[in-house]
Amino acid sequence: MNIVQIPAFTDNYFWLMFEDNNKSAVVVDPGDSAPVIKSLMDNNLELTDILITHHHNDHIGGVSKLKNVFPNVNIFGPSDSRIPANNIVKDEDIIKLDSLNEEFRVLDVRGHTNSHIAYYFHKKLFCGDTLFSCGCGRLFEGSHIDMHKAMTRIKKLPTDTMIYCAHEYTLDNIGFAKIVDPNNNDLIEMEREVQGILDNGGFSVPSKLEDELKINPFLRFDVPNIKQSVQNHFNININDEAEIFKYIRQWKDKEYD
Ligand SMILES: [Zn+2]
Repeated sequence: MNIVQIPAFTDNYFWLMFEDNNKSAVVVDPGDSAPVIKSLMDNNLELTDILITHHHNDHIGGVSKLKNVFPNVNIFGPSDSRIPANNIVKDEDIIKLDSLNEEFRVLDVRGHTNSHIAYYFHKKLFCGDTLFSCGCGRLFEGSHIDMHKAMTRIKKLPTDTMIYCAHEYTLDNIGFAKIVDPNNNDLIEMEREVQGILDNGGFSVPSKLEDELKINPFLRFDVPNIKQSVQNHFNININDEAEIFKYIRQWKDKEYD
């Protein structure tokens, strides 16, 4: 299986997948058509499947043009009138893609939006704007309970799962994480590593879940140091981990971004 990382706009990534022995390709969240078509041509491929995680335009903006070029393309997505899918999928559905000879599992990870889903297969998670490296999506539609549930679900995946998120936000996210989690040396090390990768024109994603569990404050609502840091910052007492998550999100929304 080949996975091509297609950078687009200022900081988006689309993911193109294909097998060596097959001319068919699958793309996740094509927010724009031109870079996808270029990548298909570079690799001599035809687009057979589109996987959509959520309705934001930087994830679906290229779908209609891609459909014009590839009229038989299958478009998978959640049930949501804002998403132009012709194959509606829901939590725990298994999608069999002939183009890749692979099965994807659908995970309901609502929170960033009310119908956000992720696609998981072979220790690879395509999670759109739910989880970022060292961060998570903003709560535009769902509640902190929804997002905490999504984070908890992701935490239970195998630790060597690779996280294919949709944005290059890592360095900024580390800046915030250092405030919430000031004694975490893994963050300092990761910051140096990511800075080096970006300086060389590289990408900091995909990242490994094992590393996210060490650095990502939005997955670390159960870590005593973080709980304490949140309670000190807001000067309150909290026992519930979903509440800790809520306050970490609020901290980032109101005082950092
Ligand atoms: Zn989004």
